[in-house]
Amino acid sequence: MKIVTEKIKLKTTGNPDLINITEKVSEILTRSQLKNGIATVFVVGSTAAITTFEFEPGLIKDVQDLLEKLISEKGSYAHDLTWNDANGFSHLRAMLLGPSLVVPFEEGRLLLGTWQQVVLAEFDCRSRSRTIVVQLIGIS
Ligand code: ZN
Repeated sequence: MKIVTEKIKLKTTGNPDLINITEKVSEILTRSQLKNGIATVFVVGSTAAITTFEFEPGLIKDVQDLLEKLISEKGSYAHDLTWNDANGFSHLRAMLLGPSLVVPFEEGRLLLGTWQQVVLAEFDCRSRSRTIVVQLIGIS
């Protein structure tokens, strides 16, 4: 059993930036030479999330519209009064989707569906530099 931990660093443009990171996670798995196990993908920070959906323009818009309906950017939030900032909605969206995703892998390939991508969701109201931790646990 081996544990490999790597980090993906990228810059986002702020809410509601959705970035397909599937390829980057796959590259880390290939480099690790691990064959069977699980990959945890985790974003550091409380205003971003990791999720999965079919990454195509229509669904990207649907996801953004759904989040705006559930937790509107224009709503008023107690958190904004605490720090006098404006990202209460960002924290709530991040909490709802969660910071991580576990994907099993077999024979060196992530067991994702063809239309199932790993997506970083940026909810903060400004551009951020994000660190995504990819931790693989498995055997080669
Ligand atoms: Zn905040």
